[in-house]
Formats: sequence, structure tokens, C-alpha cells
Amino acid sequence: MPECAWRKIPFAEAIGRDDLRLRARTALSGGPLCDACLGRLFAQVDTGLTNEARGRRVRQALGVPPPGGPCALCANFFDAIDEWVVRAERALARWEFDTLAVSSHIDPTVAERETALWKRIGGDLAEPYKQAFNRTVGCRLCETLGCDTDLVHPDVVVVADHAARAVTVRIKPLFVRGRYRKLVRGIPQCRWRAWPTSVQQIVGDPIAGAAEGADHVLHGCGREDADVRCLGERPFVLEVIRPRRRRLDWPALARSISAAGKVEVTGLAPCKRPEVARLKEARPEKTYRALVRLARDVDADRLADLEQLVGVVDQRTPRRVLKRRADRVRRRRVCTLVWRQLGPREIEIEVRTQAGTYIKELISGDDGRTQPSVAQVLGTAAVCTELDVLAIHIDE
Ligand SMILES: [Zn+2]
Repeated sequence: MPECAWRKIPFAEAIGRDDLRLRARTALSGGPLCDACLGRLFAQVDTGLTNEARGRRVRQALGVPPPGGPCALCANFFDAIDEWVVRAERALARWEFDTLAVSSHIDPTVAERETALWKRIGGDLAEPYKQAFNRTVGCRLCETLGCDTDLVHPDVVVVADHAARAVTVRIKPLFVRGRYRKLVRGIPQCRWRAWPTSVQQIVGDPIAGAAEGADHVLHGCGREDADVRCLGERPFVLEVIRPRRRRLDWPALARSISAAGKVEVTGLAPCKRPEVARLKEARPEKTYRALVRLARDVDADRLADLEQLVGVVDQRTPRRVLKRRADRVRRRRVCTLVWRQLGPREIEIEVRTQAGTYIKELISGDDGRTQPSVAQVLGTAAVCTELDVLAIHIDE
């Protein structure tokens, strides 16, 4: 019978079958087993029962009395679940969390005995002792503490060291999503020695402070240079390391961060780690406003040549970032471009481009490394004197 077919069979019916009775007798012939260990051998049968209840029913069906001495498999480890729950509660006491998972450093001697037993009778219907322990302690903690189990992205992991009879906790980071607007120039996105502050510090310090975290990391959906304002909302995720608190007053934090007038924050809300990868993979188009100074007077007719920039541009890695990025040519798309003449040598352009386009170089040409460029089509040196991100075109 395939393993899955056993799940719905009432246990009383299953244990009436000769093959299961033989398995149970063979298991018990090697020494006494506690109800938890005996029942675990048949964990895939009638999944509505606990292992202990299965163990009792096997014993009743075979007419075998409860063991007089210690369990030959776990040495009565499963009798101590209450103590493990208390240890875990103590270790968790100072941390705020909504989800948990339990993990174990197992006692290798128990695991060896379990493997040997499975070899004799078959382990296809069994639940490993480590899994049974983690699941049982996890469920008990969720009942008493009013939290949920999350095996993939828990807030905290309870680590039980079976041999040492000790519990420690691993505190997972708190992830907070939001959007920021950088309203002033002269602030880099991430903490950087050369600058007194950063978007990361302005946003992260108050949040990590409220969460009583040890540190923080800012993951942005792309970034703007320190001298560039970001007037469109840029999505980000703040990762707070080892937070003691997780249930924070998000609107109040957003208001107090924004009050200083440098970085405005909206939409703060807790999220899960995969949100970071989603942000990093998003390659949204962006719209910029740039102020451009020209070396020569250019008349309005000539400015019409700027239309040539819409389409494909080839950008060899700008000289200013060569230290950080490989020297190669990247092909980027300029989606739209409009301009306004402010004076004989000054224009304002608004340009929407593919993610990763270098705007300052699209203007200056970077000594021919970007082609075409504003400088090239106007036939005069051009420099970007002010740059703002107006919009980040991300679908959310
Ligand atoms: Zn046992």
C-alpha cells in the first residue's frame, strides 16, 4: 500500500492488518518502547491521532503492557516535553515575536538507535524523533504564547540542544517595507564614512531604536547619487538586526522621520525577507528632471535635435564609477525626452529611461563613452548641474 493511502485509514483497522502487527511485534522485541516512540513508527497512519495515542492503540491491539523500564529508543526523552517547553519560554521571554520555529541539535545516540530500528522494521510510516520533538514543542509554545508556527520565515527560532538539555534562541531580522522621498541634496542612500548622515540613518536609526535592534541595513529599489534628490517615491526594505520589539507604531514612526523635512517616509509595514529580492530584481523605468548648462549659446531650432536621444543609447561604464563596476558597454533605452529652454546656455530636460541609465553621462557624453548624448547632438559641451528623480515606475 502506498504511504499516502495509510493517512485516512482508522488506526483500529490498520493495526488489524498482519503486516503492521508484525512490524509492531518486531519493534517491541528489541526492548520496551514508550507510547510516543511506538506510535511514531506509524505516524503516517490515521494522521488525526497523536503519536502517544497510536502507541497506546498498538499496545492494546497486541495485548502488550506499558513498559516497566526506560524506553529503549529515547530513554524517556519524550516524557520531558514539559521541561523543554518551560526552557523555551524562559529563553523567549525578553523577545517580541509573532511566529516561531523549533530546531534541534539532536542526541546522536538516539538517532543511531532510531536508524537501526527502521532498518529492522521499515521506516516508511515513521516520523523521525527530531521532527516529532520540534513539532510537539512548537505546537505547545504556540498554544501557551499565542503565536504561530512558521517554518520558512519565523521571527525567532528556538534551538534545543538535546544532549546539553539547553535552549537558545536565534532572533531573525525584522523586515520593514516602505517608500522614501529624499527632499534635499547631499545625502547618500547608505551609511558611508565620508558623509555625516544618509537615508539609511535617517530612516533606520529611529526604527531600529524603537525595535531595540542591534543594527540595520537599507535595501533600496535602486539608488540615487548623494547630490540627487528623489522626489518620486522609492520603495525600500529596512532590515533591523536582532530586534527586541516588532509591533511598532508605524504611522507614528513615519511621521517623526518625515518631520525633519529631509527624507519623507510613507507606507511603513512589516514584511518578509523575500521582499528584499523582489525589490532588487525590479528594474523599473525612471523619470528624471535635469538642469543642463551648455558651453555655447544654442538656439531653439538646434534644441529640436534632442529628439534624436529617444531610442537606444550605448553607455560605456562612466569614468566616475570605474572603480566599482566592470568596464563594458551597456545598451539602454531612452523612452521619452522633453526640454525647456531657460536661457541661451541653460535647458531643463525631463527624461524617462530604462533602469540603469546613467543620466549625468547621457548629458555630458563622458568623453564619448555615452553615445548619443546631449553634448553630442547639440555640438557643445554640456553638464548636468542639478538632477532629480521624479518618478520610479514600479507596479505594486
Ligand atoms: Zn521513547
